[in-house]
Amino acid sequence: MINRRNFLKTGAAALPLAAAIEALHPDAVYPTETITGPAASGAAPKLIPLPTRLASIDPVTVPWQQKIRRVGQSNMTEHDPAVMNIEEWADYWHSAAADILFISVTGILAFYPSKVKFHRHGKFLNGRDFFGECVAAARKRGMRCVARMSPDLNWGDALEAHPEWAMRHPDGSVQLSEQDSRLFKTCMFSTYMDDYVPAVMREVNSLYEVDCFYTNGWPPLGSLPKCHCAICSKLPPSDTPAYWRAFNDRLLELWLRYDAIAKEKKSESFFFANLGGNVHAGPNLDRLGRIAAWFQGDNQGRTSEDPAIWGCTLQGRVCGAVMNSKFVTNLTAAYSTGSVRWRNASKNPAEAKMWMNETLASGLALYYHFIGSETGLGEDRRWQDVGRDYFQWAVKHDAHLRPRRSLANLGVMMGQGTQLLYPGPAVARTRDYMRETTHGIYETLLGGRFAFDFVHEDRLEPERISKYRALLLPNIAMLSSRQCEQIRAYVRSGGSIMASFETSLYDENLRQRADFGLADLFGISKAGDAVGTNGNAYYGRIERSHAVLEGFRNTNWLPGAQNRVPVKPVQDPVLTVVPGFVQYPPELAYPPVPHTDEPAVVLRETASSRLAYFPGDIERSFWLTGHGDLLRLLHNTIRWITRDERVVEVEGDGFVEMFAWETSPGYAIHLLNYTNPNAHHCWLNSTYPLGTQLVRMKLPSGVKVKAVELLRAESCVPFRIEDDILRFAIPRVEDYEVAAITVR
Ligand SMILES: [Zn+2]
Repeated sequence: MINRRNFLKTGAAALPLAAAIEALHPDAVYPTETITGPAASGAAPKLIPLPTRLASIDPVTVPWQQKIRRVGQSNMTEHDPAVMNIEEWADYWHSAAADILFISVTGILAFYPSKVKFHRHGKFLNGRDFFGECVAAARKRGMRCVARMSPDLNWGDALEAHPEWAMRHPDGSVQLSEQDSRLFKTCMFSTYMDDYVPAVMREVNSLYEVDCFYTNGWPPLGSLPKCHCAICSKLPPSDTPAYWRAFNDRLLELWLRYDAIAKEKKSESFFFANLGGNVHAGPNLDRLGRIAAWFQGDNQGRTSEDPAIWGCTLQGRVCGAVMNSKFVTNLTAAYSTGSVRWRNASKNPAEAKMWMNETLASGLALYYHFIGSETGLGEDRRWQDVGRDYFQWAVKHDAHLRPRRSLANLGVMMGQGTQLLYPGPAVARTRDYMRETTHGIYETLLGGRFAFDFVHEDRLEPERISKYRALLLPNIAMLSSRQCEQIRAYVRSGGSIMASFETSLYDENLRQRADFGLADLFGISKAGDAVGTNGNAYYGRIERSHAVLEGFRNTNWLPGAQNRVPVKPVQDPVLTVVPGFVQYPPELAYPPVPHTDEPAVVLRETASSRLAYFPGDIERSFWLTGHGDLLRLLHNTIRWITRDERVVEVEGDGFVEMFAWETSPGYAIHLLNYTNPNAHHCWLNSTYPLGTQLVRMKLPSGVKVKAVELLRAESCVPFRIEDDILRFAIPRVEDYEVAAITVR
């Protein structure tokens, strides 16, 4: 018997394109018999119509930075004034159609004849105005300029005059750069930031025509500072909610002050700084997102902590949650990122290109970055063609690559407080706990080809979250009473929720509650402290049939998770906990307590809302194990709580990440092909192309399609529309494809 997945594997991919389109009749392609393939559901998802299209924007009202599409940076070294060929540098970036270039002022080493005290001239500067020459060369070619500063380190003479500028260890000793002990780390609470940085900014503003100011190296990425100087000693301990508030207060105070200094010369100038760290960014991104004119995703490549290929889109989704369509870039390092680094050698082109693919797919502007310009423009110049070719391709398709609105109907709460401050349950303390949780839910959603956005926990206003059919709360341990109430209101208005483990067990100050803050919503009550695993992890015994168990056959139980919070019995449970037991020796590997009334999932339905709560850390357990049962259970549950409603459906083989955007010309469906042995580790070395992908989406009434164009293949494909449902096939996906739909 044909089923949907088998049809796609054996049928559509082998058919000529026109025949594949013809076969897209719902009855023919989506029969209703049970599907037994991994994580596949029986019935076709229900397509919900896309929202009414946005009104067009008057370009005159758009700030200049939001028109930037390509950013270039040859990060300047102290030696560059002696070796860099400025004309060659400017020609390269101009040929790549860069709109704006980062040029180093710095603060560690002056690239111009600075008179600011302690702004040490680079030893190869020789009185030359290297910065000014670079600005002139860029301007001559019509490119804008960012004045790039680095306030995070300075030298011994500054320390001698200003011992209060330094970050200190608990014993009072100065915190030095790990790689060059002549440099000390500056404290962001000290007058270094109040006096020295503004002096450099004002000097640059007085001498040059720059478009905006940027600080590298501050604020810190992905973690909070740990300083024991005289000022910081009076602050709450680092890594506490109280410290985080003090850190954010100081950060915003400085950001606004620097922004005002940038505007002293011209009002359209602004200040911005490096950000990144994706869900565990240091600054509170809700607060910062309200004031930042430019979100600089300093997230240049995969790291050993974030080894998955989707590191750039993860950052992009975080930016999407807080920037309200303001300007966002994410850097692609053309150099070798990772735990072993060669910052002056090119990385695998396939990896660099995928990072740029992800940048565009997640709705950000391109940014390409290399370090040092020995012998004119680098000892290793292989990176240059990669970036220029990519930028030149993107120029041709700018209109389709610039998103206006995400079409996603699922929201994933990012829980920034939890990401930064929650240490994991007492039974599994690890700083990677939430990182692993995030990757677990992320991979789950990619595997199910769901269209999803991230949602910041401080942005739960109805006007923001009502677009989502469901919110997912993957162990969002810290939620304030207000946030809990906002989630209740969302459910009262018809929204659905899937939550797990310690969600809402702590308030915003990391104080543990006696019971879940959302206990009433889910109909759950805590029955004990979190239980970990010593041997076999717990199982979920199947008590009755339910949609979340679709596809499970020939088993009485399923894997549970590594850790769980015991909850009190509920009526008519679907899965009950079989507590963990010995796994070695095998003689003892059987359940002494084979049956309990403790629920392993709690499901609820009220009006159009559906609620699912897993007492286990199921997303993280999936990330740690890859167990297909956990994946199926999560997919089934997401389908159940959303009533299997989709805004766009993309069917086909392969592990892909999908984005769906409304654009000015129409819509854009982005597919990133992660089907690759290096998807979870190291870098891509080559691509493994995918066959036919079938796309369906329901257009708003009255919207007509003019063309469907594949931007990478650079060809149009046939399409058909029936009952407002647009159907077309993408015959092949190399590393990336964008189906650009033009409407009228
Ligand atoms: Zn300090």
